[in-house]
Amino acid sequence: MPQRIKELRNLLNSPKKISLIIHRNPDGDAIGAASALYSVFNKMGHQTHLISPNEIPEYLQWLPNTDKTLIFDSNKEESIRLIQDSDIIFTLDFNDFSRTGNELEEVLHSLKNKTFVLIDHHLEPSDYANYMFSDHHRSSTSEMVYEFIVELGKKDLLDKVIAKSLYTGIMTDTGSFKFPNTTSTTMRIAADLMDLGINHNKIQIKIYDSFSYDKLRLLGEALNKLVFLPEYKTAYIALTKKELHKYHYQKGDTEGFVNYGLSLKDSNFAVIFLENDNEGVRISFRSKGKFPANEFAKKYFNGGGHLNAAGGRTNLSMEGAITLFKEKLPEFKEQILAAND
Ligand code: 5GP
Ligand code: MN
Repeated sequence: MPQRIKELRNLLNSPKKISLIIHRNPDGDAIGAASALYSVFNKMGHQTHLISPNEIPEYLQWLPNTDKTLIFDSNKEESIRLIQDSDIIFTLDFNDFSRTGNELEEVLHSLKNKTFVLIDHHLEPSDYANYMFSDHHRSSTSEMVYEFIVELGKKDLLDKVIAKSLYTGIMTDTGSFKFPNTTSTTMRIAADLMDLGINHNKIQIKIYDSFSYDKLRLLGEALNKLVFLPEYKTAYIALTKKELHKYHYQKGDTEGFVNYGLSLKDSNFAVIFLENDNEGVRISFRSKGKFPANEFAKKYFNGGGHLNAAGGRTNLSMEGAITLFKEKLPEFKEQILAAND
């Protein structure tokens, strides 16, 4: 790896055209990491473009550079042209092109002779990158991007704006430094970022204390509908299209809801089912301790992710999805019950 970063450092010594690509339904980590690199590369004199497969959720639209982000879904031609025209493509916070959605995935697969750089903290990265910085022990891609910038020898380019992006990415992916993925390195990097003058409390408020009235009432509905299955130490919530529309659902409104299921004293596994307008049912999985939520997601819901936080989807109806879920619980029962042993 030190050799590879040296090679990349040389490559980045002269101005390049760079595309930064993040995963579909981007979260604070993906956007934070990309926003930071966007600022750093611009300072270095590169021509940089930040491309998101779909829109940036409203609760993250205050992040630096989100106003300059090109949304693939609504600007396909321009996005494709910019990607095809880049010298270097950074893929951030995902391990496989499929995480960008069908159409963008196809574009990425069709590219010839491009230099790909992957920076990511998910398991099992696909083998497309010329330079791969992959480590599933890291809390977040933003944590890795901080180290990447340092390794490039560009620590002096870090400023308050870049720190704001990276801190937000680390904070959101660690659940404010409480998930098991938080390490002493995470804390040291967060401390370095704080020293650059960010207002960490303001960031906390922007993310967690900025709910709309509709979102808070939707949370009320979700909590009322929470089902607890004590024999499986499992809690789940299902929200139908109709329920979501009743509270004028906006992308990102259900962010964090799944964690309430896990806040139950006796739950080790929490799930939320969200009925989409056109894409079947999206599911988020969370677990405590060593129960692999990602294995459940991968095996039955076309998804994956981290040990304690995973996602997936199905074309089944809501009812079908819940039935399948309950059918498969017995298979994982022992593992779920033993999560904290
Ligand atoms: P969320 O539940 O917040 O949407 O996703 C939690 C984590 O699961 C994400 O950080 C991501 O790593 C992973 N994830 C979410 N959706 C998918 C998916 O459809 N496929 C895969 N492989 N991982 C996903
Ligand atoms: Mn992440």
